[in-house]
Amino acid sequence: MNRRSFIIRLALPVSMLSSMALFLSGCGGSKKDVSEKKSQISSDCEDLSGLSESERMARDSFGYEAQAALPERSCMHCKLFIPAGKTSPCAGCLLFKGPVKPEGSCIQFAPKDA
Ligand code: SF4
Repeated sequence: MNRRSFIIRLALPVSMLSSMALFLSGCGGSKKDVSEKKSQISSDCEDLSGLSESERMARDSFGYEAQAALPERSCMHCKLFIPAGKTSPCAGCLLFKGPVKPEGSCIQFAPKDA
């Protein structure tokens, strides 16, 4: 075996190992990033910090509750409900700003047309 082929035989496995380590570390980071992003999305849909005081007061004036007392009167059955993904990653309502849960409700519930 000459010097050149010795170096090639040595370098090939080292470069393959380096690539594998880089790939595996990238995969680990991606899984962590995805779970962090998922938790950020769900917590963002609870976050009212972007609302002004008057927007919060408007929201409160409608008596919004995150869990409807009667499931048939929940936001997902209301024609004012804006499903997640149309304009935002969180569901919303045409009456006020901020996130709304599909299972929430308020005093302005308006049933969807049958
Ligand atoms: S009006 Fe009330 S019940 Fe209807 S989507 Fe908005 S918050 Fe939900």
